[in-house]
Amino acid sequence: MSKKYRIAVVGAGMGGLLAACMLQRAGHACTVYEQAPKLAKVGAGINVAPNSTRIFRALGLEQQMLEAGIQPKLKFSREWDTGELLYTVPVPELRARYGAPFLAFHRGALQEVLYSALEPDTVQFGRQLARLEQTPDHARLDFADGSSVEADIVIGADGVHSRVRESLFGAAPADYHGLVAYRSLITGSGLKPADNTKWWAPDRYVLIYYTTEARDEINLVTGSPQPWTHGDYQPRPASAQDLLDTFRGFHEEVQEVLRAATSVTCWPMLERVPFSPWSQGRAVLLGDACHPTTPHMGQGAGMAFEDAVVLARCIDAFGDDLTEAFGRYEKARHARTSRIQHESHENQWTKKGMDPDWVYGYDALTVPL
Ligand SMILES: Cc1cc2nc3c(=O)[nH]c(=O)nc-3n(C[C@H](O)[C@H](O)[C@H](O)COP(=O)(O)OP(=O)(O)OC[C@H]3O[C@@H](n4cnc5c(N)ncnc54)[C@H](O)[C@@H]3O)c2cc1C
Repeated sequence: MSKKYRIAVVGAGMGGLLAACMLQRAGHACTVYEQAPKLAKVGAGINVAPNSTRIFRALGLEQQMLEAGIQPKLKFSREWDTGELLYTVPVPELRARYGAPFLAFHRGALQEVLYSALEPDTVQFGRQLARLEQTPDHARLDFADGSSVEADIVIGADGVHSRVRESLFGAAPADYHGLVAYRSLITGSGLKPADNTKWWAPDRYVLIYYTTEARDEINLVTGSPQPWTHGDYQPRPASAQDLLDTFRGFHEEVQEVLRAATSVTCWPMLERVPFSPWSQGRAVLLGDACHPTTPHMGQGAGMAFEDAVVLARCIDAFGDDLTEAFGRYEKARHARTSRIQHESHENQWTKKGMDPDWVYGYDALTVPL
């Protein structure tokens, strides 16, 4: 057990909320600074596999998670036009095999459960980090609203456009993968597509799944090649017609869902060549801030959750020497996140079969440090 710190987490996304939860439970004074004005149920669906849900179980959050999301019965891979079945995953068997379920959520519902596990007033909203400075004794965070705070440790959990990463290592935008993701959440359509199906065409795909056990909300997320001609890599509104045009010729079951999608956004898929180090002085990165990955494997948030656990364990075990703690954290995580980045880039996961052990069998709570 190391000494206890004042820890500033930048970003109340997937990794930031979980890191704060772990660190508070270990006795640190932890505050999360989030640029968004409030916790709002915005965003889209998210798949969360047993390598992540076993963490929620250990934190006593599994029941809440089950109520907030859905455990699909089956996951399918199908040919885009004929619907020929390529592969089926019996999802409940994953629970038996890995000791934790495969779940899908509305991202906002998942965030609410993580948020509820924090001490009151842990997250300060409307605090956009503008600048980070370090002295041998502390770090100073300056926010866009003119306010400042000091902390002993800064965790950059501020996502793919991380300001913390930029402060430490200079400006370098993430790489565009060449594919965009159209996203839409569909309610009230009366449609009842199969539980969780990825429709594979040679150069594009459509993934459709429910986000609630009542199966009253359908998440549509796609991948397709498209130049990104806009000035930045921020998601943009898209037209329903673009969506229909991009996936013309897909199976009628897909077309039905595409036609029901009225509110559509378009996201550039971003990634980064693995880099090192992930820390400098009192500041350390996690999640998309250090290893953004394409969404093809549905493991970006999974990596942020695993990072949060391993980082909290390293601070607990080696925190008297932060260089040692952050070095151990990166050493424990780098090979795994690099492999996920690589495999995800290839976009073959679950297409025609897979051995999920190396992904789902990983246990961030016990992996050697
Ligand atoms: C189309 C698509 C589908 C995906 N599907 C899945 C999936 O099914 N499963 C999965 O595991 N992953 C999925 N991902 C990836 C996943 O969304 C990310 O990998 C994950 O959210 C990363 O978590 P994070 O904590 O690193 O960052 P984020 O969750 O992005 O959180 C970053 C937070 O930091 C805040 N922030 C940013 N800058 C500042 C600042 N300067 N000051 C203060 N706050 C700041 C942001 O507002 C945000 O709240 C998908 C991604 C995409 C694009």
